[in-house]
Amino acid sequence: MGHEFCGIVEDVGTPADRSLIGRRFVSNSVISCGHCVRCRRGDTHLCAARQVFGMHRAGAFAEFVRVPMSVLIPWPDDLSAQAACLAEPLANGVHVVNLTKHLPVHSALVIGAGPIGLMCQQALQAIRGAKTIVADVSDGRLAVAQRLGASHILNARSHDVAAECRSWTEGEGVDLVVDAAGSGTTKRVSLAALRPGGAAVWIGLHENRMELDSYEVTLPEKQVLGTYAAKKEELAEALVLMQSGKVDVTSWTECIPLDESVAGFQRMLHPGPVDLKAVFLPSAQT
Ligand SMILES: [Zn+2]
Repeated sequence: MGHEFCGIVEDVGTPADRSLIGRRFVSNSVISCGHCVRCRRGDTHLCAARQVFGMHRAGAFAEFVRVPMSVLIPWPDDLSAQAACLAEPLANGVHVVNLTKHLPVHSALVIGAGPIGLMCQQALQAIRGAKTIVADVSDGRLAVAQRLGASHILNARSHDVAAECRSWTEGEGVDLVVDAAGSGTTKRVSLAALRPGGAAVWIGLHENRMELDSYEVTLPEKQVLGTYAAKKEELAEALVLMQSGKVDVTSWTECIPLDESVAGFQRMLHPGPVDLKAVFLPSAQT
């Protein structure tokens, strides 16, 4: 809670940093130690001592939050707070793209048209030029995915998602599947919809244990990748994507004053097509 944010420096810990006061920054959600073996390898998002805002330390659903300088990147002048604070979830989509750079990706299925699914969909379209198929159980969410450029949308309540993916790819299956829902069922669908040699990226966290026909992975040499966070450099890539206009993070999100956040959370239980995700703004910003 409160791990996706941007802000203006109000005060600093050491006098030497006073020039930072008043400057605008976007924060990463993960604080890495910088010296463990994983950080030294460049996998700062997997830091052995990682701390996440809102989990291991105070999050940003507040007027002020304490942030180490090491997690900040400049907030570009031409981006609104509504856009800039969504660099972190978009960076998760950028990270999925970077994780699968080794594969040719012409077609991709995204399961789950919630915020993370829509970020992954747009990153795949913008960076890899992939044709995307988006599956969900909500027609409202699917309409957003279609407006954001999905080639096909599928309501999983009325369609066999894997069969439709195969029929759109001459019986082969898609190159890449992102499971942004994360149930046992969607993980099985993610494998069934894949072509031999393709990759399924599991990013959703809905359900932990599942049954799996493991030969479905072994015999057609399918890859299963897990992912959870993104690196600070990928937040910078996400900001550039927003600036380019290739990715839209604002038309389906809604700004709500921080003072009304309780009502905002209650509304998010029944999201509509223009408020799939809420952005809370402190009164100074509204
Ligand atoms: Zn570390």
